[in-house]
Amino acid sequence: MIYPIVKFGDPVLDKPSAPVTAFDDDLRKLVDDMFESMYAAHGVGLAAPQIGIAKRLAVIDTTLGEQEAEKLVLINPEIILSEGRQYEEEGCLSFPEIREKIVRAAKVRIRAQDANGKWFEMDGEELLARAFQHEIDHLDGVVFLFRMSALKRSLNLRKIRKMQNEGTW
Ligand SMILES: [Zn+2]
Repeated sequence: MIYPIVKFGDPVLDKPSAPVTAFDDDLRKLVDDMFESMYAAHGVGLAAPQIGIAKRLAVIDTTLGEQEAEKLVLINPEIILSEGRQYEEEGCLSFPEIREKIVRAAKVRIRAQDANGKWFEMDGEELLARAFQHEIDHLDGVVFLFRMSALKRSLNLRKIRKMQNEGTW
């Protein structure tokens, strides 16, 4: 099932999500639906609040579905190490048409559970490190607009308000 993507302005994006506690068939179905929804929207990452579900769950695939082995499921993820700095352009499925350069750690190590509840650790660099940080931010109720400089944030907010008023957001 393909879920519609929630856009900025919906309160579900602004609050921390609740930990996942049940690793059951419903969760595995939700994971499958999240991948389907992410690929349909041409994204490399999707957090559950972006489909209106306030749970600590995100999916990532930096190959856009090209390689099955690159599909990552992060449940209750946390960043346990971060180092360096990168400043690259990011987008977000909840902010159509908006891309900005964002400061992120260059490398991060995360700890998360898989769809069966098993804990694992994983390192990411470059795009994958950005995806980890971007998606975990979503689970904490932080959208990338608030990682931008004050100037870019206000310019983008103005652009969003205009689209909201025109009914195109
Ligand atoms: Zn996002």
